[in-house]
Amino acid sequence: MSGAASTPAGAPAHASVDAAGWYGAALRYDSPNVDARPDGVAIELLVIHNISLPGGQFGLPHIADLFTNRVDFTAHASFADLRGLQVSSHFLIRRDGRVIQFASTCARAWHAGVSQFEGRGQCNDFSIGVEMEGSDFVPFAPAQYAALATLTAALQARHPLRAVRGHEHVAPGRKTDPGPHFDWICYHAALAKMAHPAPEDGAKLVPAHPTLTFPPRTAVVKPAHQKK
Ligand SMILES: [Zn+2]
Repeated sequence: MSGAASTPAGAPAHASVDAAGWYGAALRYDSPNVDARPDGVAIELLVIHNISLPGGQFGLPHIADLFTNRVDFTAHASFADLRGLQVSSHFLIRRDGRVIQFASTCARAWHAGVSQFEGRGQCNDFSIGVEMEGSDFVPFAPAQYAALATLTAALQARHPLRAVRGHEHVAPGRKTDPGPHFDWICYHAALAKMAHPAPEDGAKLVPAHPTLTFPPRTAVVKPAHQKK
């Protein structure tokens, strides 16, 4: 069901996360770079990242290859730096809004590294990672915000998420993503418009925390400064 399942946003029939932690609107590529979360830990945090491979180039298969340990290190000079790296993220949102899932949300993906949220380290233990295909230097696509909002609402319905932060907020000084072009206000507005999952089939859950906290607002780079 790759066709329908890859629909970015506005596909309510698929836009839920099942009890096993899989999002119905995503393509699934299982990553080996995952393990179990510590017993009893609540999934409270969403961490937003950006990624492109090679840097600044979009639409290529190398990100999925990285998260599944299949990188062809000869494909680009910069890929030598990726040798030995074992990383993953739960989700990747491509420029056209398509979502790929690499790990069940119930599992621990390896995306945040050394990190801290409200004084608590090891954010991978209690967070879900979402990679936005992009960079620190160009705007993200509207389809990506729509897909991210849809995904966020679905995750809220399944897990007791209470906060969203960027990688730059949980690993300051070490990480800069999703960066100055990630429009937190646009994301927040798109999420505010999302209806919480309707209890039409009796099986959908209501968000434990309908309102998420966001990082302190940072200036969004104006379109005049954007380059294609
Ligand atoms: Zn990151």
